[in-house]
Amino acid sequence: MLKIPRAIVEEMVAHAREAMPNEACGMVHAQGGVPFEVHRVKNIAGDEKSGSPFRYEMDPMQQLRLEAQRDETGETLFAIYHSHVGSEARPSPTDERQAFFPPGEFDRDPAYPNTFYILVSLASEPPEVRAWRVLKRTSPDETRPVVIEEPIERARWWPQWPWRCWMRRWTGRLRHR
Ligand SMILES: [Zn+2]
Repeated sequence: MLKIPRAIVEEMVAHAREAMPNEACGMVHAQGGVPFEVHRVKNIAGDEKSGSPFRYEMDPMQQLRLEAQRDETGETLFAIYHSHVGSEARPSPTDERQAFFPPGEFDRDPAYPNTFYILVSLASEPPEVRAWRVLKRTSPDETRPVVIEEPIERARWWPQWPWRCWMRRWTGRLRHR
């Protein structure tokens, strides 16, 4: 069971709704293994690089900045999330390919081996939120990687939650306004 604070789930759903009709995407950072912050990343898929209803591509500059932030703070990449506008909250064949580098190299470890893939589907109301692990295929005969669902528990509160860190971020953010 994957414990995720309710606020984090709600933030991903809010982002998915705001990005309509396009797919939303982003990263969830964790501290000490506890997911605590959602970072929205610009979807640069599509001809105009302003997003697409059918796929997502994260802005590489933003990705680099978030990576630098993780190196600096010791935060980890807990999950990569994106939304599906009209289909189920499970990784599509394109999503499966995209989890590897180069894309579709299912014999290698995925690009982010310890990171969950969270899918938000707006095809139903309330939106469906599901988490997945994508792992390399078990044999060359398989045409797909191994994809395992991790049931989510929406935690309202729990003691290990890094409140102080979260508060510091918020107050820092207010100061920069
Ligand atoms: Zn997808």
